[in-house]
Amino acid sequence: MPGNRPSRLRDVSDTEHESATAPAPGPTLEAEEELHERRRQALALVRKFGDPVLKSRASEVTEFGPELGAEAERMIAVMHDALGIGLAATQLGVMRRMLVFQAGPDSDPRGIVNPTVEWSSEDAVTAEEGCLSLPGIVVDVERPLHARVAALDTAGEPLLIEASGLEARVLQHEIDHLDGALILDRTLREQRRAAMGALRAGESFSPEMLDPDYRPPDDQAEDEDQEPSARPIER
Ligand code: ZN
Repeated sequence: MPGNRPSRLRDVSDTEHESATAPAPGPTLEAEEELHERRRQALALVRKFGDPVLKSRASEVTEFGPELGAEAERMIAVMHDALGIGLAATQLGVMRRMLVFQAGPDSDPRGIVNPTVEWSSEDAVTAEEGCLSLPGIVVDVERPLHARVAALDTAGEPLLIEASGLEARVLQHEIDHLDGALILDRTLREQRRAAMGALRAGESFSPEMLDPDYRPPDDQAEDEDQEPSARPIER
């Protein structure tokens, strides 16, 4: 029953999403190799599952200014090179409440500090998410469709983000990181169990491995209930 399927949205570390943040189509082989190498180097900087920093809560940022701005720029560069659409400071081993995100190729990358979800909708959507810290793992995660996030910019100025769809999802995923929570903590028990087993074995996991009726995101493009921003792009 197509109408009953959750909309599928792949997240970080997933090829379909990578295309959204990759440069112009049809790069030369050399350019492709360079991209691949930059991604490899960026991913090497990202803490992976099993690292205790991923289970720890980050501290509030109390000092603002150019240095924090430079830190955000550095994080944005790593996020871009890794072909991700969001990155939390904790993923780089920096235990400060800061994250960067870029929800789609048409929006500007942003760095925000001390973010909190001030309000979220009862309306929720289940979609696939991956994570730069969990290579090869994709699980279903249900999250509110809309969220209002209060935060500060890197200069310490307050800001409010009214986010929906992919942007709301990315923000909630990254704020989870700052609280020491991973998508494994947000998914169904059976998916969590299977994903943990795959991680231990150094294998990959995605929900279709448990569900023979699974249809990949492209097959759902015409579903009427498809969330508009849930296009199969990278996060
Ligand atoms: Zn993540």
